[in-house]
Amino acid sequence: MAKTTDNTRRCSFCGRKEGEVAMLISGLNGCICNECAEQAFNISQEALAHSHQAQNKPDIKQVPKPEEIKAYLDQYVIGQDDAKKTLSVAVYNHYKRLAQPKTDDDVEIEKSNIIMVGNTGTGKTLLARTIARLIDVPFTIVDATVFTEAGYVGEDVESILSRLLQAADWDVERAETGIVFIDEIDKIARKQDNPSITRDVGGEGVQQGMLKLLEGSIVNVPPRGGRKHPEQAFVQVNTNNILFICGGAFDGIERKIAQRLNTHVVGYNSVQNVFKIDKNNLMKYIEPQDLKSFGLIPEIIGRLPVLTYLNPLDSEALKRILVEPKNSIIRQYQKLLEMDGIKLTFTPEALDFIVDQAISFKLGARGLRSIVETIMVDAMFTLPSSRKRSFQVTAEYAKERFEAKSLSQGEKKEKSRMKA
Ligand code: ADP
Repeated sequence: MAKTTDNTRRCSFCGRKEGEVAMLISGLNGCICNECAEQAFNISQEALAHSHQAQNKPDIKQVPKPEEIKAYLDQYVIGQDDAKKTLSVAVYNHYKRLAQPKTDDDVEIEKSNIIMVGNTGTGKTLLARTIARLIDVPFTIVDATVFTEAGYVGEDVESILSRLLQAADWDVERAETGIVFIDEIDKIARKQDNPSITRDVGGEGVQQGMLKLLEGSIVNVPPRGGRKHPEQAFVQVNTNNILFICGGAFDGIERKIAQRLNTHVVGYNSVQNVFKIDKNNLMKYIEPQDLKSFGLIPEIIGRLPVLTYLNPLDSEALKRILVEPKNSIIRQYQKLLEMDGIKLTFTPEALDFIVDQAISFKLGARGLRSIVETIMVDAMFTLPSSRKRSFQVTAEYAKERFEAKSLSQGEKKEKSRMKA
């Protein structure tokens, strides 16, 4: 044990005496103070992290299993079971692929980029964001419309990767295993299915630009803060192991699906098939060829092998979204008022009113927040300075607040119209 000549115990690392530190832990042949122990812990953590990064491999034991991923998603995303299952498996396989030793036998697991099709506000971004949070990888959202027609790896691709690097705190290796969510991929679709008749080169050129990113290439990204001097080196990012999740509403794709299903059912076996088709939700029959009919080039479709869909949200689902998720809108408001010692409740009829408004907006769950915001703004203003300990939002109250706001907005519009 580390003892001085005067017999006081000392930390064997920094040499400080027992009274000079908060705590001294004894070992077989020495002591360690609390500060040195903490420093040692940090050093070991960093070294371990680096050894993983050096191999550029995640530890598959640390990646949750598909069922665990889905259970986690269930806490935040309502419904969408098919999409959740497909995503959980694809993400798990992606990380298995990364963990696979290079010297392994001949089976090479291919990358499983994902494409999700579903109306706006049905949870596509939410799913991607929630998964990224669970597996703790850098995550960024970009809009497909940033891709230009350049057809080469240009500024657009650089800026996407630069955002991913930012999310990874400029740790290149971490960024190279991150997730990029590309939204509104349907916006870069070619307008016509038949390229030989009317060649919509614009759409195709833009898709080629995106293809470079999906295919896996090494991209030179300007260093943090931009490239201030010409001799400053670019940061090289390999997109090979980045998981791309694309999302799009693909408005009108149901018609393409219906057309395909119709042509199929003409053949023999048709009678059985006709009755099985759920006409109210054609989206669930989506296949890669429908994406092609919509105007995505086959190369892009080929690079997005995992195809899944999201169901439109009915009033039942919207109501659940209001209250059930761990961080649901209602729970967030309740939490806010709880901090003022006020218990906030909504009657079921008030929730129905909110849902009805959201349905009329046709924005999926996206409209819910702004509706609740409109209804609650007055209460959030006055309640904290009142003596009330509880507050109930009834359908009448919700309706009155909502209509008052719409009215004042109408007045504003009218005034600006008069001015003009
Ligand atoms: P999009 O499908 O257009 O990407 P988002 O995922 O951005 O839609 O959804 C917008 C918002 O609506 C989310 O932030 C979330 O609060 C809510 N939302 C949408 N779908 C769901 C869902 N299935 N479960 C829970 N919340 C949802």
